[in-house]
Amino acid sequence: MAINKKPIKYIFVTGGVLSGLGKGITASSIANLLKARGFKVNLQKCDPYLNVDAGTLNPREHGECFVTKDGAETDLDLGHYERFIDEEMTSASSVMAGKVLLKVIQDERAGKYQGDDVQIIPHLTAAIQDYFVIASKGFEIQIIEIGGTVGDYESLSFIEAIREFGIKVGKENCLYVHVVYLPFLTASEEIKTKPAQNSVRELRGLGIMPDILVARSEKTPNLDIKKKLMLFSGVDLKSIVLLPNATTIYEVPLTLEDSGIADVITDKLKLKKVSPKLSEWRDVVRRAKTKFPKTVKIAMIAKYLDNSDTYLSVIEALKSAAWHNNVNLVIQSIDASEYDDNDNKKIKLMHKKLMSFDGIVVPGGFGARGLEGKIKAAQFALDQKIPYLGLCLGLQMAVIAAARNYGMTDATTFELNEEANNKVIITMKDQKNKAMTGGTMRLGNYSCNIIDKTLAYKVYKSTTILERHRHRGECNNKYVDKYNDWGIKVSGINEKNGLVEIIEAIDHPFFLASQFHPEFKSRPNRPHPMFDSFIKTLII
Ligand code: GLN
Repeated sequence: MAINKKPIKYIFVTGGVLSGLGKGITASSIANLLKARGFKVNLQKCDPYLNVDAGTLNPREHGECFVTKDGAETDLDLGHYERFIDEEMTSASSVMAGKVLLKVIQDERAGKYQGDDVQIIPHLTAAIQDYFVIASKGFEIQIIEIGGTVGDYESLSFIEAIREFGIKVGKENCLYVHVVYLPFLTASEEIKTKPAQNSVRELRGLGIMPDILVARSEKTPNLDIKKKLMLFSGVDLKSIVLLPNATTIYEVPLTLEDSGIADVITDKLKLKKVSPKLSEWRDVVRRAKTKFPKTVKIAMIAKYLDNSDTYLSVIEALKSAAWHNNVNLVIQSIDASEYDDNDNKKIKLMHKKLMSFDGIVVPGGFGARGLEGKIKAAQFALDQKIPYLGLCLGLQMAVIAAARNYGMTDATTFELNEEANNKVIITMKDQKNKAMTGGTMRLGNYSCNIIDKTLAYKVYKSTTILERHRHRGECNNKYVDKYNDWGIKVSGINEKNGLVEIIEAIDHPFFLASQFHPEFKSRPNRPHPMFDSFIKTLII
């Protein structure tokens, strides 16, 4: 394997004790601090799942599927990466075990191993390392997060790959950050370090000595705990960071900055010392922590209610728009499927509930469950002139709602009834015969032309935009002529194929819906215009 001549620096972030510790936030925060020092930084996520990409993972268990500009369906951590460093990731930043295994097997079939016995070590580990090298091209620092928990059978190949990689690129070019957890025992009122000690031992047993230890905890530990950690882990005191729960994830870079860890990193990697530009980020954190006099309440008509990560980018986009407009935000999820049947009593209750909100958001989604409930919410928003923001599925439901409100009561979508007469939403032509497997939808960036004198134009102040997609359905153009009668209009269109990209209601304070996912391009310091304008409407 060819290692780039230019010494790119690699930082590996592993996790121990338990999952869900915030490795992604730690990796993103380190990237944020290095970018603030002027370095060209990239991030990458390795996941032990045997899926080829995140497109086929269950959003209920795994959270949102984040889509990159080049159309990769990835782990939600890539969304954190983009939000924390304000750079767009590509498919190279997402490496799932299934993708690497597939590559190795395809190479084997193509005769690329020339009769060698193909093995986990060195072939699979080399293939993993190739992905590090490819992704890091053109950057000064590549930060690679290894999903899962050290010691898991599943992630062993990745751990071995990063160990070997460290030897190949040399100590000055590689750094290992291990994120551990310090549990708090209520009975004895103390924070325990034993699981963290064991986790470091486990990592050492796999041949990796961590350079930096990030210790997560619910409560703020006594500083003495660092000495204990140093003694047992062998990591020097200044390379141990305590990271108690933050009030907002966006505060983590600042906590890390205060800990001096960025200097430890630049020292160890022999990088130039620069003082960071963090004023814009500090402003984000200040806003995120401010209690504003005004609050806006948003109803999110959702399907997956037991995992807030499912709608992570939507929630972050709403939050950043709220901070930007100096208002507090309350988002309440409403289970759309509760209103799927035509039970008038329930529908009345839904209407009553919706009246207590300033605005309604219908996010993306797949499958029939909850669709009728979402359509009813959109119908109510149209009727009652409640501000409405529709995201992908939210556009499709809005079109059906408008048709039904007008009187076409059997208006529907391919997801509810493929055989229906009045399918106002259909499967895209090139999607018809595709199996329901990953990577088959209309994915990633597509351009959209915005029509003048529309709300969409007011929002974007631009006639051409580029937004990210993930869908297999589209507006049935057969009905577009009827939109005016239905009280809606097309305000954004893909010129190449005539696909409807944005619709809005004609006589409504704010009813805007897109076939794309604007949430993926929103940033904590730069809310996306659709979210920003939506929140602005709610304040008036
Ligand atoms: N299920 C719809 C489609 O495939 C909407 C997709 C989405 O919301 N991402 O077109």
